[in-house]
Amino acid sequence: MSKEVGPLNPRTTSYEFNGITGVLGIALGLPLLSIVLNQMIRPDYYIEGAFSNFDIAELWNHIKPLKWYLTNRELWTYYLTWFGVLAIFDVTLPGRTMEGVELRDGTKLRYKINGVALTTTLAAVLAIRWHLTKGEMPELQYLYDNQTDICIITIIFGFIMSFFLYAFSFFPLLKANGRGTKEHILSVSGNTGNPVYDWFIGRELNPRIGPFDLKLFCELRPGLLLWFLNNVACLHHHYLQTGEVNNAILFVTLAQGFYVFDGVLNEEGCLTMMDITTDGFGYMLAFGDLTLVPFTYALQARYLTVSPIVLTGPYLSFLVALMALGYYIFHSSNNQKSHFRQGKLPHLKSIDTKRGTKLLCDGWWGMSQHMNYFGDWLISLSWCLATGFQTPLTYYYSLYFAALLIHRQKRDEHLCKVKYGDDWKKYETAVPYKIVPFIY
Ligand code: NDP
Repeated sequence: MSKEVGPLNPRTTSYEFNGITGVLGIALGLPLLSIVLNQMIRPDYYIEGAFSNFDIAELWNHIKPLKWYLTNRELWTYYLTWFGVLAIFDVTLPGRTMEGVELRDGTKLRYKINGVALTTTLAAVLAIRWHLTKGEMPELQYLYDNQTDICIITIIFGFIMSFFLYAFSFFPLLKANGRGTKEHILSVSGNTGNPVYDWFIGRELNPRIGPFDLKLFCELRPGLLLWFLNNVACLHHHYLQTGEVNNAILFVTLAQGFYVFDGVLNEEGCLTMMDITTDGFGYMLAFGDLTLVPFTYALQARYLTVSPIVLTGPYLSFLVALMALGYYIFHSSNNQKSHFRQGKLPHLKSIDTKRGTKLLCDGWWGMSQHMNYFGDWLISLSWCLATGFQTPLTYYYSLYFAALLIHRQKRDEHLCKVKYGDDWKKYETAVPYKIVPFIY
C-alpha cells in the first residue's frame, strides 16, 4: 500500500465546495442539469419560452431506466470507439516530448505533445468519411439524434473511471527502473482521508498507464473534440434538413472550433494550468472534461438548429469583434505570463518573492490578477449573443463560466496566499482587482 500521509503527501485539512454535502450536491446535481439542458433544447420539445412551458414529465419522457444505459451495446460501442481511437492516436501519433512542472519529489513528468498530428489525422478521417458517405456522415447524424443518451453514457463512464482512479491511487507504483515501488504523488487538495471527498476532487495527481497521462488526455481530447463534433453534427443536420446554413450557427461552429483547436494545438500551455499541476484526477475533472464541456458548451449550436436565426451584418460584425477582443486579451495575457516566467520580458515591473519566483504586476497582469479569465469570458459571451434573446437557456454557458472562473480565482487566491505568504499581500496592494478592472 502507498503511504497516505507524510512529507511528500500532506493530509488535506481544508474542504472546498462546502465539504461532503457540497461535493455530493455537485456530483448529482450537475449531471442532472446537463441532462435537463440537453432535453430542453430537443427538436421535439417546445422551446420558445422554455421556462413558462417547463414540463418535467415531458422532459423526462425520453430518459430510459439506468439498466438500459448500462447494457446498451450500441451506445457504449459508439462512445468507447471514440475514446479508444483517440487514446490510440494519442499514444501512437508522433510529437515532441515536453517536461511538466517539477513535482514534490523533485521529478518532472514527460508529456507527448502531438496536437498537430492529431488534428491533421482527425481532419483527414472526417474528409474521407465525407467522401465515402457522399456527405451523409451517419456517425454525425447518430451523434445528433442520440445526444442526451450519449451524454448519459459519458456521465456513467466518468463515474466508473473515477472510482477506478480512486481505488488505483492506493496501489503501489512500480519504479521507472522496474525495481521496487514508489509512493504515488497525491493532490494537495484531494487527500483528506474521506473517500467521498477524495473521489470527487481526485486523490492521485497524475494517474498514468505507462507514459499515457489520463488527466491530460481527458482534458484535451475526448471531451473538447466531442464539443466541436457536436457542433459540426448540429450544423450538418441543419444543412441536411434545410439545404442551407444560417450565419449564426456557422459563426458559433467556426468560433468554437477555433477555440477548441487553439487549445488542442497549444497543449503545452495546459501543463502549467491548475488542473494539471494541483487538482487530482477524480470525478470533478472527469465529469467536467467528458460531459460538461461537450454536452453543455454545445447548447448554442443545438439551439440554432432547432430555432435558426439569421444575424444582420452589423450584429455579426459586433460578435466577431467581441470574440476577437476576448481572444486577444485571453491569448496575449497568458503568453505574457508564460514569456515573463521564461525570463523573456525583464523590463516589466514585478515583485520578488521569498519563494524564488517573481509576480508580474505590469502589462495585462497590472490591470487585474486574472485578465486571462476576463478575456475568456468575453469569448463565451460572443457565442451566447449569437443565439439572440428568445430564451435564457443558451446563456447558461456564460453564466456557468462566470461562476466557474470566480470560483477558480478564489481557489487560486487561497493557494497563492499559502504559497507566497506576505509577498502575496504586496502583490494584492499593487494589483487590487481580481478579474475585471475597476469592477471586481
Ligand atoms: P492562471 O493562468 O491565471 O494561473 C494562475 C497561476 O499563475 C498562479 O497559481 C500562480 O502560480 C501564477 N501567477 C498568478 N499571478 C501571477 C503573476 N502576477 N505573475 C506570475 N505568475 C502568476 O490560471 P489558470 O491556470 O486557472 O488558467 C489558465 C487559462 O485557462 C486561463 O486563460 C483560463 O481562462 C483558462 N481556463 C479555461 C477553462 C474553460 O473551461 N474554457 C477552464 C479553466 C481555465 P505560480 O506562481 O505557482 O506559478
